Amino acid sequence: MGEGYLIGCNKCATKKDIDNAYTKHSNNSGNIFNISIGVGMQCFCNEQLEEIYKNNDTMTEDINIDKIIHKNINNGFKFTKYLGYNPYYCENCKKLYNHFYLEMKKDNKIYIPEYICKKCSHVLKIIYIEWEKYYNENKIIKINLNGEDKILLCGNCGNDQFIIMGYYNFD
Ligand SMILES: [Zn+2]
Ligand SMILES: [Zn+2]
Repeated sequence: MGEGYLIGCNKCATKKDIDNAYTKHSNNSGNIFNISIGVGMQCFCNEQLEEIYKNNDTMTEDINIDKIIHKNINNGFKFTKYLGYNPYYCENCKKLYNHFYLEMKKDNKIYIPEYICKKCSHVLKIIYIEWEKYYNENKIIKINLNGEDKILLCGNCGNDQFIIMGYYNFD
């Protein structure tokens, strides 16, 4: 369960971009960002996640990561309670993605998936979006990357102002 926002560049986002963005969670098109947040990073659904993987379903939508997850399950790893959709960022392309964060643990070993930028193959960084500052400072989205403040730029035109174009809940 969670909630998300569709954020669009206030210069170049079109209605067609928005319609496309609604159909896929992880498909952010550069001038529209589909951001899922507050998605129970501490929920108690790690058992459900294990069920999903035992039924050969996926949350990561990434075959390579899923292979590792299956291998880990067979080796006795357990999902922790830290899981959920989260924004990820490519420093190279300035592109924002949504991916499913999870952790698996066995004894002292921990596995956290690394997602790759589809455009440039850089490893994506998990980011924190400062929503309160975003609302106050009007249209600029501040992101926190490794403790450093940055602002989100439109991947299409370089504009730094965005508007919230939609809000949704999902299961
Ligand atoms: Zn990239
Ligand atoms: Zn733009």
